[in-house]
Amino acid sequence: MIYLDHNATTPVHPDVVEALLPFLQEKFGNPSSIHWGGRAVKGAVENAREQVAELVGCEPGEVVFTSSGTEADNMAIKGVAAALGGRGNHIVTTQVEHPGVANPCLYLENLGFEVTRLPVDTDGLLDVERLEAAITDRTILISAMAANNETGVLMPVREIGEIALRRRVYFHCDGVQAAGKIPLSVRDGGISLLALSAHKLYAPKGAGALVVKRGVKCHPLIHGGSQERNRRGGTENVAGIVAFGKACAISRETMAGEALRLKGLRDRLEEGILALVSGARVNGHRELRLPTTSNITIAGVEADSLLMALDLEGVAASSGSACSSGTLKVSPVLAAMGRTGEEAKGSVRFSLGRGNTDAEIDRVLAVLPAIVARLRGES
Ligand SMILES: *Cc1c(COP(=O)(O)O)cnc(C)c1O
Repeated sequence: MIYLDHNATTPVHPDVVEALLPFLQEKFGNPSSIHWGGRAVKGAVENAREQVAELVGCEPGEVVFTSSGTEADNMAIKGVAAALGGRGNHIVTTQVEHPGVANPCLYLENLGFEVTRLPVDTDGLLDVERLEAAITDRTILISAMAANNETGVLMPVREIGEIALRRRVYFHCDGVQAAGKIPLSVRDGGISLLALSAHKLYAPKGAGALVVKRGVKCHPLIHGGSQERNRRGGTENVAGIVAFGKACAISRETMAGEALRLKGLRDRLEEGILALVSGARVNGHRELRLPTTSNITIAGVEADSLLMALDLEGVAASSGSACSSGTLKVSPVLAAMGRTGEEAKGSVRFSLGRGNTDAEIDRVLAVLPAIVARLRGES
């Protein structure tokens, strides 16, 4: 089996499994308990908080654990809207955000907020001058992703942060796809809030985090007990949090080497497809992109048929975002990049990760051209 869908989710790293198992067994306590059961796990949660903070260059006290990247995005957007709604009601975002950002923005728009959705160019790049021009004295928040889940295209996070600082507007960055793959630093940039997700970096599903920079006003999404310094009620997902922390520590150590290795594999896969399959075209800027992601339109082919044929060969890939597959809707990301409905429906995403090998890329390049030829009725 060849897994090329790491942007949808990743296999859990064996060292992460080992780190979390005691928290499903003897270390079962509630971190809020004063007795031995609680004490044994409280330290582990705080250790994980430090590990997350080290990966993204923030203080441990700025990390709020959540249940997912989606929850972190929701908390950032709705939490800032609740905290600053009296001062302004305008949010600036982009047309290529994940549903975890796009849909909270839509929800707020239906409640009376104003939302500006900035376009991108045919390479998926955002024009920062246009972003600055969109800011008004009613703007409270800019929300933009660090790296796109469908194409891997990078946003100019540093420039957006500078604009946000200069114009005194909060900047929420959806860092879910970027974290652990490329360097991200809350301390160095103008990022006010940063969303992360454990299962995109080799930890299990069910944990995420929102970094809330000190001084940033953001209300809780989930009201309850005093967990997470009153920022997120509910007994902590201890095993998930410990796993998330361990995965962040591993990512920090292996990121540079893996980025180089996976870029080599990705480029070989991509160049192979472009050479072997006529009418193939890469979606997204060739350089300003995650090293792990390749989104390719193959003219005259339905992505869903191609993915099924690849699946029969044991190859797992995806068409655009996993959250929208199964529905016939054209990817809003590819539409924003000016692709036609037909082009978007013929687009496949390969996203690589730590288990992938040279031999696997060879295997995909060996089966793909014949599948495309068959689907085009050429064989
Ligand atoms: C996966 C993803 C999310 C959502 O994270 P979950 O933990 O799956 O809820 C948000 N943003 C981006 C860019 C993603 O790729």
